[in-house]
Amino acid sequence: MFGLIGHLTSLEHAQSVAKELGYPEYADQGLEFWCMAPPQIVDTITVTSLTGQIIQGKYVESCFLPEMLASHRFKAATRKIINAMTHAQKHGINITALGGFSSIIFEKFNLQQIKQIRNVTLELKRFTTGNTHTAYIICRQVEQASQQMGIDLSQATVAICGATGDIGSAVCRWLDARTDVAELLLVARDQERLQDLQTDLGRGKILSLDQALPLADIVVWVASMPKGVEIDSTTLKHPCLMIDGGYPKNLATQIQHPGVSVLNGGIVEHSLDIDWRIMHIVNMNIPSRQLFACFAESMLLEFEQWYTNFSWGRNQITLENMDKIGQVSVKHGFQPLLL
Ligand code: NDP
Repeated sequence: MFGLIGHLTSLEHAQSVAKELGYPEYADQGLEFWCMAPPQIVDTITVTSLTGQIIQGKYVESCFLPEMLASHRFKAATRKIINAMTHAQKHGINITALGGFSSIIFEKFNLQQIKQIRNVTLELKRFTTGNTHTAYIICRQVEQASQQMGIDLSQATVAICGATGDIGSAVCRWLDARTDVAELLLVARDQERLQDLQTDLGRGKILSLDQALPLADIVVWVASMPKGVEIDSTTLKHPCLMIDGGYPKNLATQIQHPGVSVLNGGIVEHSLDIDWRIMHIVNMNIPSRQLFACFAESMLLEFEQWYTNFSWGRNQITLENMDKIGQVSVKHGFQPLLL
């Protein structure tokens, strides 16, 4: 059995989804209520692989909302993640993906120190961030969507916003080692970590977002932002490929310019319909087949019975593990979402 720990993108989103999923008592409640709400299993899932293998899973709604971070309710935020993990383990789930902000909160607040929750000893082997598969899928999206747009990587400048993050650093390493990309622009706030990354890669220009955007043929957005940023599309190159891998989205604006193509980053499409309800609530275009790559990672680990925290910690994703998860992703019928 696999598990997915997820959360919604805002209080407004949570209220509308609560109504839709049949939890009217949650629908009119404010942030304080969501801070108190316990985790819930709100969906059971059946996935069939291209190989014919069938697996079962459960979706655990953590009731975390990004507003909890924005309003400094850090205790509530960390409690949401730990309680959701405990809930998953208590329900006998072998391998659970920590979706969206769950793994970011786990790392940022050092939650590995908390091992005992009431009568449950958390077994971290049962959890994965899903970031190896997400990074792999984003790299495939860079390679394939650039081709769709006629952008030649060997001539292209790629800006990675969130370059020093877990996913961003893996994307940088892959693009450096596995492609002939002409230039990498490294964007984040902490200058020391940017310099360390630049030293590790032996290349890349450190720039601010405002400096990087007008120079980039491709922008990969993998910054952990509770709210998206506004982008003026006239300042971008045309053509420009924007791959938004953030959850919530890093781009606040719907960019409508004929020269700019925006692709949902870190999203896979399965070759067969998945029996579930949850992808309707996060507005996937084809909810029965499209999903976050991190969720797909826990499905892949269940298919292969690799009951281990395949993706864990920060900035430890290797190219070998990206290859390994990429191979089973193809084998079981997942493809990167393209334009
Ligand atoms: P990390 O916390 O490891 O990294 C975040 C990166 O963003 C860091 O480089 C950080 O550097 C940078 N950053 C944060 N805020 C800003 C800002 N305001 N401006 C510029 N850079 C910023 O996160 P992950 O790599 O784990 O996740 C990245 C994103 O991907 C998140 O939005 C997450 O929800 C999403 N995600 C999507 C998945 C999918 O399946 N599609 C799966 C997992 C995650 P600094 O702090 O120095 O600025």
